[in-house]
Amino acid sequence: MSGSSRSSRSCDVVVVGAGAMGSSAAWWLARRGLDVVVLEQFEAGHVRGSSHGSSRIFRLAYPDRRYVAMAAEALPLWGELSDEAGVALLRTVGGLDHGYEPSVRAVADAMAAEGVAHSWLSAEEAAARWPGLVFTSPVLFQPDAGSTDARSTVAALQRLAAARGAELHFSTPVLDVAETPSGVRVTTAAEEFVAPVAVVAGGAWMPRLVAGLEPIVVTQEQVFHFSPRTAETEWPTFIHHQRPFMYGLPAPSPEGIKVAEHHTGAPVDPDTRDFAIDPAGQARVVDYVERWLPGLDPGVASAATCLYANTATEDFIIERRGNLVIAAGFSGHGFKFTPLVGRLLADLATP
Ligand SMILES: Cc1cc2nc3c(=O)[nH]c(=O)nc-3n(C[C@H](O)[C@H](O)[C@H](O)COP(=O)(O)OP(=O)(O)OC[C@H]3O[C@@H](n4cnc5c(N)ncnc54)[C@H](O)[C@@H]3O)c2cc1C
Repeated sequence: MSGSSRSSRSCDVVVVGAGAMGSSAAWWLARRGLDVVVLEQFEAGHVRGSSHGSSRIFRLAYPDRRYVAMAAEALPLWGELSDEAGVALLRTVGGLDHGYEPSVRAVADAMAAEGVAHSWLSAEEAAARWPGLVFTSPVLFQPDAGSTDARSTVAALQRLAAARGAELHFSTPVLDVAETPSGVRVTTAAEEFVAPVAVVAGGAWMPRLVAGLEPIVVTQEQVFHFSPRTAETEWPTFIHHQRPFMYGLPAPSPEGIKVAEHHTGAPVDPDTRDFAIDPAGQARVVDYVERWLPGLDPGVASAATCLYANTATEDFIIERRGNLVIAAGFSGHGFKFTPLVGRLLADLATP
């Protein structure tokens, strides 16, 4: 369809991408009374990007004080979002870090420096409280950690943004994002959207949407759910500092306990990836469950793939460049910040 036959629509902000970050930006912008158009290439609830599936860890336990502070700022916003959505999107279960001690200690030091509550337990004390896990070294406990309901969070953000007037277009791929003297022109097959500013939150597809970004390597990661042997056992979120880092958390029932390796996936093209589970990786996780998680039945209950969009440092790109607000490189640890990132993007879009 030639440019002339495309209809044109002007608005205050165009948001490209309705994953966790774009949907959160739309929510904040719509709350501020702005005329927001959201363009998403796939259907609502799709499983091709980084924000689908059962659950994500919310934690304040980071070795980097910046992320401890960001998580502390995000925590009350999860409450605000849940209140507006009328459903608890973050379930607080407490979080554990254990394993390679210098690595775990760095997390404790960062939390201490930020004044975040935490405590140490001996391996025996931790095993008594959480009999589903095995510990061989001191365990760092942080009480505010929890499990966020990923699928419901993205759906709630979209529902709330729409309820406040945002216009969400699914199955509407953006073909081009261009800056103009007065703002931006965002082109789809059938329409052009013009606005003073665009928030571009395209996840793994960001390098195709915005030129000149620092390198982002997209990897296909895989996660597994296992059934607890007994319903009584208490399950925290957990991160095992070893090579590779292992993590897990209780997913919304009936999905069980999610267990996975952090950042062991192969680089992929987000448009041609195979969504296939790597059997060797699955076998490693099952071995891990048999060794370290006796509270779980080692039979895989379900498996899924998902995309990390990794910057070299695993730091996020959240900035404004001209008339574009960029949200990229969430590197496998962005979800916990979703309600905060949306506000940061909205602030950048409406200075
Ligand atoms: C296996 C796994 C486990 C994780 N665990 C955790 C965890 O425990 N804790 C945590 O905090 N984080 C975790 N994360 C990270 C977190 O899920 C991501 O950082 C977050 O979901 C990124 O959201 P996003 O909006 O940037 O990306 P996405 O959800 O991928 O959103 C980008 C959207 O842009 C759309 N788009 C792209 N190009 C176009 C176009 N041309 N036109 C229109 N739309 C377009 C895409 O279709 C997509 O919907 C995990 C990630 C994975 C993969």
